[in-house]
Amino acid sequence: MLAGKKITELKSELSSDIICPKCDYKNSTKVIIIGVYKHLFQIPFISGGKTGKSICTNCNTTFELSSMPSNIKLAYYELKENVKTPFWFYIGIITLKALVLIKIFSKYI
Ligand SMILES: [Zn+2]
Repeated sequence: MLAGKKITELKSELSSDIICPKCDYKNSTKVIIIGVYKHLFQIPFISGGKTGKSICTNCNTTFELSSMPSNIKLAYYELKENVKTPFWFYIGIITLKALVLIKIFSKYI
């Protein structure tokens, strides 16, 4: 594929104050922050934002962000606050800008 979307796991954390709605276990729900980026020729170009999911390490119940119970969603948003979009999500656009700048400056050298 020449261009498309890719996802990568940015951070995951076992949340101590979430009780799994399926198995009632505490301290078993892992909240995962997922970064989405668009790539061109496999080079990350633009960040497509973040999404998330949760998984219970006891009963394997998973929730996508859209179907997350509110207590897990809250933990997701808290964790997301602490996660920065990695700079390499923009490596394509940075390279492109650098090339344009080099081209502009080379006129004056
Ligand atoms: Zn569970």
